[in-house]
Amino acid sequence: VRFAPSPTGFFHIGSARTALFNWLYARHTGGSLILRIEDTDKLRNTEEALQVIFDGMSWLGLDWDEGPQAGGDFGPYFQSQRDDIYREYLDKLRANGRAYDQDGAVYFKISGEPQIIDDAVRGRVERTEEKDFVIIRSDGSPVFHFVNVVDDIAMGITHVIRGEDHLSNTSKHTELFKSFGAPLPVYAHIPLILKENGPGKMSKRDQGSLIENYRKRRFLPEAVRNYLCLLGWSPKDDREILGIDEIISLFDLPQINRNNARFDEKKLSHINSKYLHDLPPGKFVEIAKAALLEEGVIDGATDPDYVAAVLTLSQEKLRAVEEVGAFTRYFFHGDYEFDPKAKQKIFKKGDPRARVAELRASLASLDEFAEEASEAVVQKLAGKLGVGTGEYIHAARLAVSGTNVGPSFYGLLRVLGKERVLTRFDRFLAEVK
Ligand code: GLU
Repeated sequence: VRFAPSPTGFFHIGSARTALFNWLYARHTGGSLILRIEDTDKLRNTEEALQVIFDGMSWLGLDWDEGPQAGGDFGPYFQSQRDDIYREYLDKLRANGRAYDQDGAVYFKISGEPQIIDDAVRGRVERTEEKDFVIIRSDGSPVFHFVNVVDDIAMGITHVIRGEDHLSNTSKHTELFKSFGAPLPVYAHIPLILKENGPGKMSKRDQGSLIENYRKRRFLPEAVRNYLCLLGWSPKDDREILGIDEIISLFDLPQINRNNARFDEKKLSHINSKYLHDLPPGKFVEIAKAALLEEGVIDGATDPDYVAAVLTLSQEKLRAVEEVGAFTRYFFHGDYEFDPKAKQKIFKKGDPRARVAELRASLASLDEFAEEASEAVVQKLAGKLGVGTGEYIHAARLAVSGTNVGPSFYGLLRVLGKERVLTRFDRFLAEVK
């Protein structure tokens, strides 16, 4: 199989899904994936777009067996470097009477016979070409249909897995295959991805469509890849989270849905959060720490053990790495503000200042804030006063973090540690009335 992008735009969800399905099929069958760069449109190709494709594929873990960087026996893998091959194939068509010149361009002479394919996704598709078409423009540049088919023949491609937007080109392509006496590949035209809201096809301009944005937002590549697998394919049960090895073993062309898939960023975020929660803590710390450093929440001098403790405590509550800065900032900076909404809510009920003062006095006698010890203190105070432990917990959480959301309360006290907690209680008592 091959993934044959044109480096004219960015690497968007649709291209990534096409690359992924080719990769899955190659890995499922033990075949080879070729990366072929369709860069014949000199004016629209950019180096930058090419790099974005390489980076995007690597980020998603989609390695190619042949192509740029990987090499292989069927190169060059840039169409812009394959002129000799195209000339050779053109000569074959001239020799068998299927190519002719007109007005400076070279035309392909169609057979006019119905072109029938048994598409692995769409089933039987029939279409008849009615007009000869240009294969070499008058400026000498070859047309997409021609080079696409020549390369598929020359590279020994057996399966063409591509977007449904190419289905209407296929009759031109099968005419060309036959004119060279080459066997047709198996075609699998995969359904379009519809934009999240509204009827049309998702385009590069749509919100959420660029792969590099997920990378910048520190989504986990395994999660994005898992989500992309579900755009047009499913394991035929309700599962959404599947390891890549299982997907590879289950993936097959007839399993691809015929119906269009709809992009759903919420589902992607949900899958990403599941992957985040399942990461081994050490790995999570590494990823989240990089985000904190980049955002300037911590710096090289911040105690690494403290950072690791904060992040390990926060992992199960975080939905995305991009939220880690806001979620943990107060651990590292004592100048946090007291969220007015949280404050209002907590001050509506009971006397949070009194609860914090009582807790401060009792906790001061503990050496270490191990979970069980501080919990026993809170329970004893609440029992004595005849109130729920929540009164202490909400007030104290507001005092030490400025907010009413966060990780488990006793874990919060343990990780902040005695000194920070008591200092923060004092600041709260002095500032918040
Ligand atoms: N360069 C074409 C594209 O990016 C490739 C089409 C194909 O896979 O045959 O759409």
